[in-house]
Amino acid sequence: MEQDTESLYLVTTDARCIDESMGQYLDDYLDGTLSRDDAEKFEAHLCRCLACQADLSNTINLFAALEASRDSIAADETRKARSVSHGK
Ligand SMILES: [Zn+2]
Repeated sequence: MEQDTESLYLVTTDARCIDESMGQYLDDYLDGTLSRDDAEKFEAHLCRCLACQADLSNTINLFAALEASRDSIAADETRKARSVSHGK
């Protein structure tokens, strides 16, 4: 298996979204662009759907990792220039 995700705390699960018409709301939910009605529906779905719970926490972890790397890049530009080997 390839391992190219550094040290992110990704949740892996075999669970599948129990209702993909709800699962597609995930991005909008995170963006805060869902209507209140849809957000409530999605949260209700989230309580029952392991796949979306995993997705949600993975996405949050990714955002946190991005934030963290942005901070350290700002703090140390020179080191960044020397270690761009893992660029995407
Ligand atoms: Zn789901």
